Formats: sequence, structure tokens, C-alpha cells
Amino acid sequence: MQELIRVEQLTCRHGAVEALSGISFSVAAGDYLGIVGPNGSGKSTLVRALLGLMPSYQGRISLFGQSRENFTAWQRLGYLPQNLGPLNPAFPATVFEVVQLGLLAGKGLPRRLCRQERQQVQELLELLGIDHLQRRMIGELSGGQQQRVMLARALINNPELLVMDEPTAALDPEIRDRFYELVARMNKNKGTTVLLVTHDTGTIGQYASRMLYLDKKVLFFGSFDEFCHSPEMSVFFGEHSQHLI
Ligand code: ADP
Ligand code: MG
Repeated sequence: MQELIRVEQLTCRHGAVEALSGISFSVAAGDYLGIVGPNGSGKSTLVRALLGLMPSYQGRISLFGQSRENFTAWQRLGYLPQNLGPLNPAFPATVFEVVQLGLLAGKGLPRRLCRQERQQVQELLELLGIDHLQRRMIGELSGGQQQRVMLARALINNPELLVMDEPTAALDPEIRDRFYELVARMNKNKGTTVLLVTHDTGTIGQYASRMLYLDKKVLFFGSFDEFCHSPEMSVFFGEHSQHLI
């Protein structure tokens, strides 16, 4: 199995705060990795370091077999950051345009979409229940609607690696379930590799094939089945799970 991510002895600081200390793990093509841990355990820092968003770190990170410093094929990745926050109401793009930009990212110069691509955008917007908003300016929409647009933008390019940091916190359960079903289909049918940071035990239990349990260090890394027989599992699914949120 091709290795898509390798992290060796990663240590990251925010000023004086050591957010990650000596983290090592790897992700193979086709894995669905659930990343869990209490608040402040370094989950977002890890994801940001993988994506080149941390100004400095110690240790080694490789993506698609290349060291992170040399990696340039960002169009192979889809990323949903935590806490997008409300967009500036004057952000100058419609819903359709934002998703179109996602589709064209890495495909060269801006251009009009062909009929088949327009259809693809349309179907994804329908699935996420925002097709009726496609001509609206994204900045005018509610936080939950904006979040759905960003989900569509991350998925439209059929990324080989999809990295999501608590992507559905602002969504109602029906849309959330539809979104996770779509991601699971991409994982099963197209072999899309998924990294999902979440506190949502139901989604993790249903879909994750592997687990990374963090608290500044790696407390558990292995298959979901092994996780279910580990002491960390009762902390995650058990009495403390509500305190993790
Ligand atoms: P999680 O996503 O698991 O909640 P984070 O990666 O956001 O954890 O944070 C890990 C630690 O780093 C926490 O102690 C947090 O307060 C600290 N931290 C995160 N971002 C910053 C920042 N921009 N500046 C200073 N400290 C930060
Ligand atoms: Mg976080």
C-alpha cells in the first residue's frame, strides 16, 4: 500500500507552548484516519503542520513520498479548516463561483466550466442542500450555509487526500450524515484517503479504519479494531466523551 503521509518525531510550538511533542505515525492510501483527543491536545496544530501552515516545526513530514518542504502538488489535497468563522459579507464571489474555483484549482488558468463540470457542481450543491443558493453571494449566507459551501469546495476536485478539522460542527444532523456518507463513498469507491478530526463518536465508530489518539503525544495509533480493545477507547467513547467536546 502506498504511504501518503509519514510523520517522524514531530514537535511543534506556539511560542512557549509545546503543542506537539515527538509525534510519529503514517497513513496509507485508502485509510480513513480518525484523529481524536481532548481540547487543546494538538489536533489542529498537527493538521496545520501537515499542510504547511505552521511556520516552523522539528522532525520530518513527508506527503505522497516527498518531504513536505519539496511538496507542491497541493491540488491533490482537500482541506477543511476548523472555525472558518463568518466571512466578510462583502466577499466578492457567489456560491457557484467558490465551488468552481475549487474545481479549477490546479487545472490551470481560470476558464468557464464545461457542461459535465457544471453538472458535477450542481449535483454536489444539491446533495448538500444549497443548490438554490448558487447565485447568492457567499458572504450573505448563514454560518451553516457557508460551511456547506466550503464542504462542496473541498470535495469537488476529487482530492486524493481529504483533511478535515471538525468540519461539521455548524451543521444540522441530516446534512452532516449526508456529507459523511458521501465522504465514505469517496473513500470506498475512489480510494480517497481521509483524515478526520472530530469529537463525533458516532461518525468515528461508523467510518474510521484507523485511529490516532493525541494528547500532545501519541496515546494510541493503530486500527480501529485495536482501538476498541484499548484503554483509550473507554475514555473516548465512555464516561469522559462529553468532556472532550
Ligand atoms: P486542538 O485542536 O486539539 O484543540 P490545538 O492544536 O488547537 O488543539 O492547540 C494545541 C495547544 O496549542 C493548546 O494549548 C493551544 O492553546 C495552543 N495554541 C494553538 N494555537 C495557538 C496559537 N495560535 N497561539 C498560541 N497557542 C496556540
Ligand atoms: Mg482544533
